[in-house]
Amino acid sequence: MKLSIHGCRGSAATSSPSTHNYGGNTSCFEVITGDDQIIFDAGSGFKNIKFSKSRASFLLISHFHHDHIQGLPFNPELFDPKNEIIISSGLCDIELVKQTIRRCFSPPYFPIDIVSLLSNIKFLPFKAVQEKLGKVISLDSMLLNHPGGSTGYKLIEKNSSLIYICDNEFEEDQRKSLANFSKNADLLIWDGMFTQEELADKKGWGHSSIEQAIDFNTTANCKKILITHHAPNRSDKELDQIAKDLPELFTLARDGLEIEV
Ligand SMILES: [Zn+2]
Ligand SMILES: [Zn+2]
Repeated sequence: MKLSIHGCRGSAATSSPSTHNYGGNTSCFEVITGDDQIIFDAGSGFKNIKFSKSRASFLLISHFHHDHIQGLPFNPELFDPKNEIIISSGLCDIELVKQTIRRCFSPPYFPIDIVSLLSNIKFLPFKAVQEKLGKVISLDSMLLNHPGGSTGYKLIEKNSSLIYICDNEFEEDQRKSLANFSKNADLLIWDGMFTQEELADKKGWGHSSIEQAIDFNTTANCKKILITHHAPNRSDKELDQIAKDLPELFTLARDGLEIEV
């Protein structure tokens, strides 16, 4: 599997000389497998996705907070009827996924009703997506701890596994189930919006810290950990400083980074 990061910023997109190196687009991760193009979340980074000509394209939404869907109608390729995309989510019933996307991207919130106008946007229940991918890829989901809910995803192709956990507020009583879900994975993508110091007065905001990822991995034993959902105002300088002190297996996500899993 090849992972491409199109959006590593949390909560709000940012554009500033001080955040230029890591990038300012909100959550969007693209995974290319043998037969499929699987995209986790459609934050503002989604506008840079190139639709695959030879693979089926799936968009798996973790939850509906703005920073995870706002890029959807800003990808010019979405307006080409040949580019079919299947949207799904493990969070809720597919009718609710469709209704919510329609509500967010139709008047008065958006100039046009993209769900009604673009017939290349399809919606498929999560179970049906699992079955569709099932011959070569195993796809699983897990509910996370986040206001309004969020979904984690696990992809396994042959012997490679990738876990996407964003957004999530790590709690000790989650350790066992989360570790079972992500045990020994080749790559774990972790919501590390806060530092441990910042987390102290951010309880209930729905995000974890970078230090919690380090601690959690003593249980989960993942081979590589990618920290994402950087706080909107976290500068390149601060992120470089954080990166310096990270254990070897840890990397900070940045827009444009590609990782072979
Ligand atoms: Zn978010
Ligand atoms: Zn969220």
